[in-house]
Amino acid sequence: MNHEIFVDLHLHTTFSDGVLNPKDLVNLCYKNGLKYISITDHDCIDGIQESIDVSKSIGKIDVIPGIELSTQNEMHILGYYIDYEDLGLKKILANFQDDRIIRTKETINLLSQLGIDIDWNVVKSFAGEGAIGRPHIAKAMIAGGFVKSFKDAFDIYLGKSGLAYVGKVRMTPKEAIELIHSLGGVSVLAHPTFCMPGTDDSSIKIFEKTLIELKSYGLKGLEVYYKNYSADQISMLKRLALSNGLICAGGSDFHGNGEPDEVLPGLVGPPMRDFSLLRN
Ligand code: AMP
Ligand code: ZN
Ligand code: FE
Ligand code: FE
Repeated sequence: MNHEIFVDLHLHTTFSDGVLNPKDLVNLCYKNGLKYISITDHDCIDGIQESIDVSKSIGKIDVIPGIELSTQNEMHILGYYIDYEDLGLKKILANFQDDRIIRTKETINLLSQLGIDIDWNVVKSFAGEGAIGRPHIAKAMIAGGFVKSFKDAFDIYLGKSGLAYVGKVRMTPKEAIELIHSLGGVSVLAHPTFCMPGTDDSSIKIFEKTLIELKSYGLKGLEVYYKNYSADQISMLKRLALSNGLICAGGSDFHGNGEPDEVLPGLVGPPMRDFSLLRN
């Protein structure tokens, strides 16, 4: 990265599929030199207040209330500066958690038909109090010796083209963007390359049409700086953001899983001037 990193707007805690609790995560971010971070758990706001409280006790790092909403077609919409105490939001998220439990059980059934017997209680124990999801199933698969890595679990079974994929997500990207806006927040499309059919020019053109559609619903930003994106990917996304009037956001999407290629907080994020645009 050719700018100093003070901002990370994509982080997960134990309240979804991250490994660190809010206190340990905020402390790690502070230790790694970050000044502004957002906690963006999947469909869950329960880790925000504690993260803010920890950041206030440290005094030199700010926590921006955030969320990562799962929407149809595996699109993830990040929301920042949302009113996380809104009762309507809490009700919607409670329904989402019920859907996640149903979806997880369906996936376990599909796996069992493929001869992979993993126990609901094991998956549940990996999720703890957090929003249950595919990473917890992947951990149970690894623990049971059915796959060697997260990558194998997703590539073969749990990913969009996997043998045990259950794609049941209720919310559309439009609804997610509108929800974030109704909560006074700023919406950003997460890991945009996941929404591209390929890396060639025509894939980028197809994606730009999607982007224009999302912008018409109120999308404000694009995750340009993400995890291990290459310089080429960053400049391609930056160009798309600038030509479509979107703010360049970003973050590590740190989960703390200890995978060998995991990008730690403090190594990737947007420049301060882009963050200032988002903040204002
Ligand atoms: P879920 O919340 O159940 O839809 O799971 C989404 C999470 O699964 C993502 O945030 C990632 O942490 C993880 N994930 C999704 N796709 C992959 C993949 N291909 N390889 C590894 N992890 C993935
Ligand atoms: Zn995740
Ligand atoms: Fe995501
Ligand atoms: Fe994420």
